[in-house]
Amino acid sequence: MKCIDIISKILFPPQCLACAVRLDSGILCEPCLEAIPCYTTLFCARCGARSPEAKKICHRETPYLLGSVGPYDNATLKLLIQNLKFRGVRQAAKPLAILIARYLRKIPIDTGKFILIPLPLSRKRRNERGFNQAAEIAKYLAEYLPIQIRNDILLRNRNTKPQTETKNAAERQKNILGCFSVSKQRDIFRKDILLLDDVVTSGATLGEAACALKAAGARKIIAITAAKA
Ligand SMILES: [Zn+2]
Ligand SMILES: [Zn+2]
Repeated sequence: MKCIDIISKILFPPQCLACAVRLDSGILCEPCLEAIPCYTTLFCARCGARSPEAKKICHRETPYLLGSVGPYDNATLKLLIQNLKFRGVRQAAKPLAILIARYLRKIPIDTGKFILIPLPLSRKRRNERGFNQAAEIAKYLAEYLPIQIRNDILLRNRNTKPQTETKNAAERQKNILGCFSVSKQRDIFRKDILLLDDVVTSGATLGEAACALKAAGARKIIAITAAKA
């Protein structure tokens, strides 16, 4: 351990983000991690209906099913995502990956048969943040699940303004229309895809990415997020 790390550990001992208990390492204590509720089904991405058998039972035209660990209004889940995304705390990706791995084991899909694609950021956004939060979560996820991860398939063609700054559904749709493209199409042709992001709100961005993957020949697409609003 570097001298500066030792000093900063003495001055600012690591503590749990949620309950402030002292920690030896990491940012969340085990009990706080365990206390986060975990859904056990997939959902219709359009209407939110539960899909316990991982099959579309309504809104079949929607290009993907949605999977989420828990609700975004869970305080701990929200803290983890906000720290990762807005405070640059890369370590927050690890507990999120643990939670997603736990969730993926509960739903009836064989993750080994899927290709995992983290939702890409525009180059501008990635440079501002220093990393892509979805790719950070994916990196840790590979430690807990045997899964193929590809960061070179789905590309973001242009910068878009944050979806939170759009006024309504129509504007959100317009904002991201055509912003994704797919390279190496042969690698995903008739393959099942897990599309990974930190949080889903309106689903417009994930829907656009799923459409691009479908148009490139992907078979089944399941978007997986740590939280859903
Ligand atoms: Zn705690
Ligand atoms: Zn539906």
